[in-house]
Amino acid sequence: MTREPLLGVPGLRPELLLDGAWRAAAATFAVGNPATGERIADVADAGLAEVDLAVAAAAAALPGWAATPGWQRYRVLADGARLLAERVEAIARVMSLETGKPIAESVGEMRNTVRFLEWYSHEAARLPGEYWPGVAPGRDAYVVKEPVGVVAAITPWNFPGFMVACKVGAALAAGCAVVLKPAEQTPLTALAIAAALHDAGLPAGVLGVLTTSDPATVGTALVTHPDVACVTFTGSTAVGERLLALAAPAIKRVLLELGGNAPVVVLDDAVLDDAVAQVVRARYLNAGQACVAANRVYVQRGIAEAFTERFVAAVRALRPGDPFEAGTDLGPLIELAAVERLERQVATATEQGARLATGGARLGENAVSAWLEPAVLVAEGRAQPAVLAEEFFGPVASVVVFDTEDEGVALANDTRYGLAAYVFAGTADRGLAVARRIRSGSVGVNGALVSEPALPFGGMGESGLGRERGRAGIEEFLETKTIQVAARG
Ligand code: ADP
Repeated sequence: MTREPLLGVPGLRPELLLDGAWRAAAATFAVGNPATGERIADVADAGLAEVDLAVAAAAAALPGWAATPGWQRYRVLADGARLLAERVEAIARVMSLETGKPIAESVGEMRNTVRFLEWYSHEAARLPGEYWPGVAPGRDAYVVKEPVGVVAAITPWNFPGFMVACKVGAALAAGCAVVLKPAEQTPLTALAIAAALHDAGLPAGVLGVLTTSDPATVGTALVTHPDVACVTFTGSTAVGERLLALAAPAIKRVLLELGGNAPVVVLDDAVLDDAVAQVVRARYLNAGQACVAANRVYVQRGIAEAFTERFVAAVRALRPGDPFEAGTDLGPLIELAAVERLERQVATATEQGARLATGGARLGENAVSAWLEPAVLVAEGRAQPAVLAEEFFGPVASVVVFDTEDEGVALANDTRYGLAAYVFAGTADRGLAVARRIRSGSVGVNGALVSEPALPFGGMGESGLGRERGRAGIEEFLETKTIQVAARG
């Protein structure tokens, strides 16, 4: 019997992917639409029993997948990417339903998801080792790369497709088996991507998906499971810290992409209109719910007034609205708790001396979420309110004035985070010189950051451990083994 595809996405089932088959669980949980408050679907609610099943299936599948020649892994992953490409529009629609993201952004994210999966598929065929003949008298050596083992991948709701491609694509290319636990707000996009890989012929158990309404219980069991060798996580610094501690006793490999609180340094010779347009993009894309989003904007005094005036005007022109309507710039936030958290942060900032230059009102509230009118806080003078040391995970920017370049750099670096930063300067040389002084995993000079498969991405300090994407992103899922061979007598 063929069933109607869920929400029009081929292969999508509201079930767990366990040992190569779609299986129901004892319970389900509802996925809500932040733009309407309506229920989109009920999906399987995994518990501890399903963690054991998924990890056992992954552990059983691992040796076969690890031993599969890279070019054959390439073929399966490339077929998966091709199927996914055919489903981009349908999955993007589901992504907008469960995140509230404008549909054009969802389509863009799904295209990137395909592009990264394609890139990783090629990397699967390019994992050579080294041979050192005569490395010492009478001795040859091999340096070989081996998959690290079963990987637990825990992904967030803000980029529910792209994050799956970055983690699952890289780990599968490296020859690892993966158990994926997507965020409870956005299980459907992850299931749809897994369905494409499953439909492309990925062997049973190589990829399992556990959707759950109880991330703490399921996540803890997954991370501490003795057969899980590696944890890759993107999410909040608080949960990342917890997972690092849980993985510590068994010395597991842990990759963490955590909070950002990205600074922007706008120097006095920056091209004003470019800087304004790019900072608006870097702050308000995805309604500001991105770890690389520009949080704290530091502007040199010479252009501070003109920049602030144009920036506030540009933010006022942004259109919050229906994610499915063309021309909508911002959808709702993911959930009401996120709206409330931002409102509290804005209130604290104004209590601490910042001026709310525009926005901040709650719009279109429903049972799941609401829009937050895009906001700008302006800190007059050089003392920045203490609350600006926190990440604002939504459409709120702060603008603070500085005098000297040294002061701008010091303000940018006055954080325990270090994921992304931006510099705007009149010349690339000046921008580059300042970029070199900022402690951050990625820096955009005279532009917002773009995601390219070849470019490593990750954080310094409390923004994380390890790197995703690029060659570095594959290496994270590989062990290096050195074998020495002594010549006989
Ligand atoms: P955010 O604040 O962006 O929602 P979280 O860190 O809470 O970030 O969520 C990111 C991912 O971590 C999601 O998949 C979520 O389900 C998962 N998660 C949340 N709490 C825990 C936990 N205690 N243990 C393991 N995973 C968790």
